[in-house]
Amino acid sequence: MSNRSWLSFALGLTLATGAWPFAAPARAEAPLVRNVILMIGDGMGLPIVGAAELASRQQRGRSLTLTRLYKEGAMGLAFTGSANSMITDSAAAATTLATGVKTKNGYIGMGPEDQDLLTVAEAAKQNGKRVGLVTTTRISHATPAAFSALQNDRDEENAIAEQQVDSGVDLLLGGGARHWLPKGSPGSKRKDHRNLAAEAQAKGYQLVRTRQELLASKSDKLLGLFHLDHLSFQVDKPDDSEPSLAEMTGKALDVLDRNAKGFFLMVEGGKIDHALHSNDGAAAIAELLAFDDAISRAWDYQKLHPDTLLIVTSDHDTGGFTIIGQQQPEKPRSIRYPEPDGIKVLHRAQRSLESMLPELEKASSIEEVQRIIKSHAGIDVDREWVERTAAKHAWMKGFPYHETAAIAAGEQHVLPFGFTTSSHVATPVLIGAVGPDSLLARLRMPQENAEIGRLIVEIMSQR
Ligand SMILES: [Zn+2]
Repeated sequence: MSNRSWLSFALGLTLATGAWPFAAPARAEAPLVRNVILMIGDGMGLPIVGAAELASRQQRGRSLTLTRLYKEGAMGLAFTGSANSMITDSAAAATTLATGVKTKNGYIGMGPEDQDLLTVAEAAKQNGKRVGLVTTTRISHATPAAFSALQNDRDEENAIAEQQVDSGVDLLLGGGARHWLPKGSPGSKRKDHRNLAAEAQAKGYQLVRTRQELLASKSDKLLGLFHLDHLSFQVDKPDDSEPSLAEMTGKALDVLDRNAKGFFLMVEGGKIDHALHSNDGAAAIAELLAFDDAISRAWDYQKLHPDTLLIVTSDHDTGGFTIIGQQQPEKPRSIRYPEPDGIKVLHRAQRSLESMLPELEKASSIEEVQRIIKSHAGIDVDREWVERTAAKHAWMKGFPYHETAAIAAGEQHVLPFGFTTSSHVATPVLIGAVGPDSLLARLRMPQENAEIGRLIVEIMSQR
């Protein structure tokens, strides 16, 4: 074959197969991973994972999917300190997971010198991939915001929502409609008359407000706002109008999968952190079990699509939670350890502490307080305990976190939980992952959380 006929042969082959025949074999060039799913259990330290494992065995007769993922995939450890503190907040930690750069607490998608950072979402979009963000908090809250906005103050949620409309993110599912609806509409927190939900619709997003609308959607661009504020705690869900985290994850994978170039998906179990802030162990474990169901959904997808890297980790530990023994009022120095199946008392917990507080605030008699606590935790508290705790913590006047902690402490005579704080702590968090072995090797070790972010940016930037 002459040079010329070689060329026309090659061009013909190129047109026929769509591949340039002189290029190195496609396999050698192809990225190892097309899709990355990053799942963040907000506030999910090791102790609450351990307690949820016991609860899962007790309530569901099986281990957590997360425990199985650690065993069958990789397990590592992440140190979470931020650029300006040993203890990170969710904004700095999420920015670090989104960019690979440690930053200051409160910063969203921005480096410590106020610089704009390349996020995994931006790298993915530049490569023609789709991007989805799913959470049980407001979609403008710190964790999803860090993947889709640029601010030096996480509380600027109106501005964050404005940036999210223009972010190019294909799918946003969560709560927080109050920052998307114009001033004057019920529950809105906007200070202007912009209707960001309508602006998103004009850009081609389908707006879904209920679980039913979400499940029925066939759109490739989705904005799901299922609550004015955060979604309800799992234990408080009023009806089936709010989707579960697993359902949102499943829908996100359906939508993002319809793209040959792959995707990046972030899924946040955001209310594990909220429950731990209010020192509500029962609600936190219920949130973690719901997060675990979402992990099952994502892992099922990963098994069918081995070119997907699934990483499950946390931004930080919250609450300094532990399983503890019970103090004996009659013998203050002796502690009675809980039974091996002591976690089963959780079956009685029907509602979150947060939902109980407004009622406690209004309660006008000790009997009413007893009834409310019974309805929350299934616990009978005696008059003396109510009087003592009420006198100590001024129950009838608003309930900041430390006072809810006091209520939880009062419940310890049946709920075997202790907390050291109502805020975040510096304990390292676990990393779990399944996917190609060479990548798992990079996650199977103690590391700074920035290394996880760097790995994902690297994968999403690969052409
Ligand atoms: Zn928090």
